[in-house]
Amino acid sequence: MGAISQDYGVLSYIRFSMDEQEAIQKKREQISRVQRTRRLITVFLSIFIIFTIAALICLAVSVYSLNSKLDKLDQTIRYLSTHSAQGKNSLSYDYDLKQNSYKTDKENLADESDIRKVYLTFDDGPSSNTGKILDILDDYNVKATFFVNGRTDKHSIKMYKRIVNEGHTIGMHSYTHRYNQVYASREAFEKDFFRIRKLIYDTTGVKSVYYRFPGGSSNKVSNTNISDLISFLDKEKVTYFDWNVMSGDAVSNELKSSQIIENVMSDVVKYKTSVVLMHDAANKNSTVAALPALIQKLQKEGDLLLPIDKDTRLIQHVTLSDK
Ligand code: ZN
Repeated sequence: MGAISQDYGVLSYIRFSMDEQEAIQKKREQISRVQRTRRLITVFLSIFIIFTIAALICLAVSVYSLNSKLDKLDQTIRYLSTHSAQGKNSLSYDYDLKQNSYKTDKENLADESDIRKVYLTFDDGPSSNTGKILDILDDYNVKATFFVNGRTDKHSIKMYKRIVNEGHTIGMHSYTHRYNQVYASREAFEKDFFRIRKLIYDTTGVKSVYYRFPGGSSNKVSNTNISDLISFLDKEKVTYFDWNVMSGDAVSNELKSSQIIENVMSDVVKYKTSVVLMHDAANKNSTVAALPALIQKLQKEGDLLLPIDKDTRLIQHVTLSDK
């Protein structure tokens, strides 16, 4: 009896330990299954995160390149609209305007003996390039003219103040620079005009009396009779200036600075008074790069570099015929 019960005990012990081992084995399998699943999830998540980041980067790059394409397109349209407007029969408006008045101004053609006056003008700022341009002008003790747009961020406010405090002329170039808004109607133009004038006055204390039409007075984008806008400026005792020398920086942001210098130098020799169209927008780095050498060349030629003032000869693409 005793031996049997002993055997029984051993057997049950063996069975118990087999059950235990089986359970342990199962647990191990379970653990390794969980571990596998966890690894799988981790790998999947990592791949997901990497893909998301890569997709975001791709998206950012394409947005950036689209932006710069849009910018180029805008510049091209602006260039084409001002250029085609300077061509023959380009003004389709049925009001009485004198075209290309600066081109027919024989009095402005320079002789060898003339001391030429050169007015460097910068449009579309303030931007991150405005400070750099102001620094360069300061290095050469040159005063210029800035036709500004309306911006109220801290940096832009600082730039308006610098332009005025450093002795340059501040002119208006519309608040928004959006053709479809500025030129939507005479009322829209007036509203925009008073907005930019007020911003300049509030930040600098200067009541600006100079204006440059976005796209020039010969632009083809205005929905409004330009002669109406000219008479409005006249009523406000504001003088508008176009340009007779183009640096070419409106055409492309990738223009070589040597090309900008050549464009300006080859034209300023023609006129007693040159108003040079340049831009201090954020993407006009080649203009900044060209500026020191350009100033050096002009100064070497004996040209006077001046800011626009009440004595500056009018350079206007179109004028009212009765003026
Ligand atoms: Zn402009």
